[in-house]
Amino acid sequence: MIFFFGTRASNIGNFNIPNSKCDYCKQESTQRISVFGKYAHIFWIPIFPIGKKAVAECTHCKRTIAQNEFSPELKSLYKNYKGKTKRPFWHWLGLIIFGLLIAFITLIGITSEKDPRSDLLSADEKLMISNPTMESDSISYKIKKVFDIFTTEEIKPSEFKYLTKISGDKALILVQIPKLRKVEKKARAEALEMVEMVTDNQQILKGKDLYIGIKGLFSMMLIKTPTYEKNSKFALTSELYEFYGPKPESKK
Ligand SMILES: [Zn+2]
Repeated sequence: MIFFFGTRASNIGNFNIPNSKCDYCKQESTQRISVFGKYAHIFWIPIFPIGKKAVAECTHCKRTIAQNEFSPELKSLYKNYKGKTKRPFWHWLGLIIFGLLIAFITLIGITSEKDPRSDLLSADEKLMISNPTMESDSISYKIKKVFDIFTTEEIKPSEFKYLTKISGDKALILVQIPKLRKVEKKARAEALEMVEMVTDNQQILKGKDLYIGIKGLFSMMLIKTPTYEKNSKFALTSELYEFYGPKPESKK
């Protein structure tokens, strides 16, 4: 039986005990105490130490005495030596790695400034609405028409939200499909095709760089920009930031 976590021990010190007599062979000064450092492990990676145990052995007759069978004399001798044993650092390996990880994450949090464009995108995502009109947002209105026709009731097209924003020679097209996660990855790509069915034929979008983001309930799952295209739960939302221009220089 193999356990993936539990305790193991490694030898961390050996002491020859002078003036001790072996109970078995009656030889003098033949006792040797070996100290083992116990540690918790997960998948054989030491995590942290959990106490020590000792065993005495007669170097002459090879009889061993477990720690719980030590004579009072041997016990007190062991006490004196126990403090001299030093654990190797790797008994703390798991805790050390964990500590470094925390420090690393903290450091990243301190050094990496938030891209201010993420706030701009979040603000625009909040502006998405489920019922764009021809007057307020004609492109979103037309995209909604397409989705209403081609989407099955199952993924609730009435809950979709839309926003189109044109700025200079760029256009941002956002669609939110709350149940997008439920759609198979292959079929998800069709959502992008439906958006492009509309955007490809709009005079107002001719020659503009399009930044299309299709969002699930929480995050972007389909993104297409002039330089990036991804159909994945892990699509990089930051690829849409380019719509707002280059990343502003950090001010000090
Ligand atoms: Zn002996």
